[in-house]
Parts: sequence; structure tokens; C-alpha cells
Amino acid sequence: MSRVDRKREREGASTTSPDPYLESAAALLPTLPQLDGFGASPIAMGESELEAGQIDPHAPPEGGFRLDLVLDLDHTLVHATEWSHASASTGAQRFFLEGPRRGHYLLRARDGLRAFLEEARQIANLYIYTMGSRSYTRQVLSLIDPNKEVFTEKVLCREDGQEEIFPKSLAHVCEAEHRRRYMLVVDDREDAWDSISRGHVLQIPAFRYFRSDGAAPAADPSGADSALYDVLRVLQAVHADIHEGRHPHVPSALLARRRAVLHGQHLVFSGGLLNDAPLNQKRSAYWRLAEVFGATCHLRMNEQVTHVVSRSANTNTVGKALETPRIFAVSPLWLIHSCSRWHRQSEEPYQYSLATTSPRNLDIRPADIKAMVDRVLRVLPPTLTKGERLQVLIKYVVPHEHKEHANLLLAKYEQESGEEVRRKALEELKQLAGVEALKTVLQACELTP
Ligand SMILES: [Mg+2]
Repeated sequence: MSRVDRKREREGASTTSPDPYLESAAALLPTLPQLDGFGASPIAMGESELEAGQIDPHAPPEGGFRLDLVLDLDHTLVHATEWSHASASTGAQRFFLEGPRRGHYLLRARDGLRAFLEEARQIANLYIYTMGSRSYTRQVLSLIDPNKEVFTEKVLCREDGQEEIFPKSLAHVCEAEHRRRYMLVVDDREDAWDSISRGHVLQIPAFRYFRSDGAAPAADPSGADSALYDVLRVLQAVHADIHEGRHPHVPSALLARRRAVLHGQHLVFSGGLLNDAPLNQKRSAYWRLAEVFGATCHLRMNEQVTHVVSRSANTNTVGKALETPRIFAVSPLWLIHSCSRWHRQSEEPYQYSLATTSPRNLDIRPADIKAMVDRVLRVLPPTLTKGERLQVLIKYVVPHEHKEHANLLLAKYEQESGEEVRRKALEELKQLAGVEALKTVLQACELTP
């Protein structure tokens, strides 16, 4: 096996298990154009159903220019689910629906919805375009806008019982083409829109509060959902871009904002992240996502590279990045969060460091490593040399997929006399085994760490 082959093998070492983030990355990509139009279209809710409240929505604020903001309902502003006795309704509102889908439902508004709507209506006229039925839409609006003062523009929905599938289109919202230039859509599904409208769509991560198998709220491990806040920031920026003459319409402002997110960043991928497109890595989801958000991607390390994005801390490329202070070595979540939030995230929480190892080792407490090492030592023949004992122990603390590499490094460490080579081999071993684990092992073998 040549050096290059071995390197390739190591770079791809952790690729046998499915990539848990690939789906999230792919979901953030703009979709390909499709054939538009199936004849069916939504209905506009009648004036009587949407009597305006106390505040005149058409009164222009100082400054005058307003965007037209078209909002989706389900998984964008709210999540609704059928009510059952198992439902835990903390933070959710209950409503009853007549018609074909008759029954009790629970509705949960996305975090920060009220504040978002308040801020958004300062600079935009608010529309609703949902695939929900008329009676459902009426119920939801009565809960999230009880005084009918926010959604004062058109509300588009389906007629009760209408089942045809059709793409959403801004042409349904406004027939006059020239009046659509200031329309910005916020929807969790960009692919629900026809291709001419897609340039106007700001895709928001889908909001799912209730579990799919029932109504019990899912615990959100990442804390509060900041998506509406993120959207507001883009909305305000796009408004300013057009108002101050930097862009003539929403698609151009949106495109520029998207590209600005990772502009000037140069990425290299490692740990098998591009394996979803083995024949042409530039077609892989991560590569395309990074480019759509303005980054420049490279197939291998060079002078320009600013970030190594890797699934694993244990690749040569990450190792190289860790030796170079100006290069960040980060998990793919850094890229995904930067793109879903439309804002380059601080690298720090996503960074690999010399102390980082594969998640498996991170989970092991130092006391457990010590206990394991002691156990192994007790059964080893006393005739073994320090070096031989070390070799056996390394096998226990290094994850399976890195064992072969660890053995090569050990051999280097033992046979080479050059101090620099030995130090480097040890450094790489540290990354494979974890700093704590290696320290414990070296101490057990009476070698200095
Ligand atoms: Mg939706």
C-alpha cells in the first residue's frame, strides 16, 4: 500500500457509518427547477373573515418603503397536531376544527413569533400563503393574530376538501408582475414554490414541536429556536438594501445576502464528507451548500484554505489544520448552522483541537480509562517489555478503525531515534487515542507522557 493509499484510507476511515448531518445539509440547498403549474390554485379568504383591527396597516411608517412579506403557516410560524389524550399541552393552544378534518387540535407557535410579527410589520405588509384548508387557516389565525391587526393583506389557503397538489406561486398573491419585485417569502419548503418564485424564498428550518408519533412535545436539546430572529435579521437587511438603492428587487438582495454569509472563506472537506458524490465531489451536498452561501471550496489543502470541515478529528487534513494557527478545523455543523442561520457562526464551539478525539473516546471518563488499563495490565505476561505493553494498551484505547494506523505510529515511535519524528508520532497518537487516554497508558507503562 502506497503512502497515498494509506492516507486515502485514513481520510475515509470514518465513512462507513451514515453521516447524520448530510440530510440537514441537503435540505438547505436550493432545489432544481421543476415544471410549473397544474391548473389548481389557492383561494383568497374573504374580506368578512379578515376584518381589519384597530390599527391601519397601510399607514406608511416614516421612511415609506415597505416590503411585501408572504408567510407560510405550518412548520414556518406554527406546528399543529391532532389532540389526543396522550398530549401534553404545555405551551400549546387547543382548538376545534369543523369540516373534513373535524377534531381537536393543538397548536404551538414558534419561539418569538409575536415579537417577530411586531418587528416585521414595521417594514413589511404581511400576507399568509398556506396549503392548509380555509377552516384550519381561520382557526390558526384567530390564535396567532386574535385582534386581526397583523395579517391584513391577502390570506391564501385551500378550499376545504380541495386535494389537488399545486406549486405555490407569487402570481397567486399578485397578478401584476412588476408588483412582485418587493415580495419576500418565508417558508420551510422552498420546493413548494414554482421556479419563478423561488428567488424570492427565504427558507426557514422546519419547526416541529410535537413528535410525529403523538402529541407529546419533543424536548429541544439546542434550547430556544432562534429561526424567526434569524429571518428578521435578513428581512431587515434586504429591506435596507432595496430602500437604500443597493439592490433593485428582493431576489437580487436575497442572493447577495446569501453569498455574503461565507464570502471570503476557503473550505476543504475531510473525513469522507464528499462521499455522497464519489464521481464528482463538487456535486456533493456540502460542497454545493458552501458555494451557494459564498464560500470557495478546494479539493485539497493550499495556501488559501481557511477552514477544514471534517466529520472526524482523526484525519490527516485536520491534523494539518491543527498545526496551522490560521486554519480552523470544524465539524460540519459549523457549516450547516452558518447556512441555516444566514450568519457565519463563531468557529469556537465547533472546533476540533488537539484534545478532541472521536466521540467514542470523548465519552470515556479518565477514571474508566485507568480502570481498563489496570485490568489489561493484570492479564499481560510480566515478560513483556515496556514497548510491547504500550502496544497492547494502545489497541484498547484507540477506536477500532484507527488501530492499524496507531500500530504504524507506535512502530515509528519505537524504531526511530530522531526526537522530532518521535514527538510527531506521539502527537498523532494523542489525537487517535485522546490526550487523557494516552497519558494514562504512558504512565501505566512507566513512560513519560
Ligand atoms: Mg410549511
